[in-house]
Amino acid sequence: MRPKGVNPLTEGDTNAVPRYHPSVQASATIPTKHWHALPDGRVMCDVCPRACSLRDGQRGLCFVRAAEGGQVVLTTYGRSSGYCVDPIEKKPLNHFLPGSSVLSFGTAGCNLSCKFCQNWDISKSRELDTLADAASPETIARAAADLGCRSVAFTYNDPVIFMEYAIDVAQACREVGVRSVAVTAGYMCDAPRREFYAHMDAANVDLKAFTEDFYHRVTGGHLAPVLETLEYLAHETDVWLELTTLLIPGHNDSDAELRRMSRWVAERLGPRVPLHFTAFHPDFRMTDVPPTPPETLARARRIAISEGLQYAYTGNVRDRDGGSTYCHGCGACVVERDWYTLGAWRLSDDGRCLDCGTPCAGRFDGPPGQWGARRLPVRLADFEPEAVA
Ligand code: SF4
Repeated sequence: MRPKGVNPLTEGDTNAVPRYHPSVQASATIPTKHWHALPDGRVMCDVCPRACSLRDGQRGLCFVRAAEGGQVVLTTYGRSSGYCVDPIEKKPLNHFLPGSSVLSFGTAGCNLSCKFCQNWDISKSRELDTLADAASPETIARAAADLGCRSVAFTYNDPVIFMEYAIDVAQACREVGVRSVAVTAGYMCDAPRREFYAHMDAANVDLKAFTEDFYHRVTGGHLAPVLETLEYLAHETDVWLELTTLLIPGHNDSDAELRRMSRWVAERLGPRVPLHFTAFHPDFRMTDVPPTPPETLARARRIAISEGLQYAYTGNVRDRDGGSTYCHGCGACVVERDWYTLGAWRLSDDGRCLDCGTPCAGRFDGPPGQWGARRLPVRLADFEPEAVA
């Protein structure tokens, strides 16, 4: 019998688990790998910098990882708060297979505690009953392929906390030619980060602000691990990376902070990384702050461009100029957007400007998709093998 507190998934070869649970069809509690035993009998989860120390029966801050039988388990493998086909631009990703559709889902819980959370009904859920849907990785991959989605997105809440399920889904998707997208706050430790992103094709990472004070006061986290994730993605992986900053009036929208953030992105990640500035609406524990004025988004975009970024966008508002992509070689509008609907398209199949030939940064593969702005809820049970037989 395995002694309590010994991690069977990392004893010996730490890379020995190519697939966490090939036999799990859906909805299960599974053992995890990134944790270690503490001398006082507790176990510490090593997935994110929260470093939760847990006694048997306790759950981590994210609520979905817990100590059971002397190890850390994931309690929500295979469970989801629902599935929906979205435009890829909604993640937001403007340079990854533009116009294509993406099968999106999330689970419950989160490893940050953002007072402004815009998805708090999912991320702060303590009711696992909200996870009404269940599906195996193979079913999700089949559904995505059958629905014509070019990718699957782990979104609505942070996939960091359900990384084992996300990895299995990504592996199943790769087998049928569907790519994987992580929408995340990037709050993750080094070893799980390397494992997780080996399976991802694109990521939109929230850079929630550019001060440690904001991260500490408003999110309950820290800025430095997020910056580490961004540098790792930009320099050590092939994952296509875009960033999003939700601008909250009076909290993270000063000229000075936006200038410092943009300069850091340009210098440390490179000028080709797109930065999205999106509009806040009062929600959760931040209902005393007004919505972001459109002019604030436009100002942030101007600052980002003036600091050398080649692609900066406004989001959550109707702004054709701020939502469109411009060639950084000649200034032509190469991808026109009206909300999530594409208009004029002036790129070659491999993403070069039709006017001057300058390559647009991103992942382009043929003509643009035609999904438009639709949002289509999907019942995964319809794609189970018995349902499609
Ligand atoms: S992933 Fe969850 S349990 Fe693990 S350290 Fe982070 S908040 Fe704690």
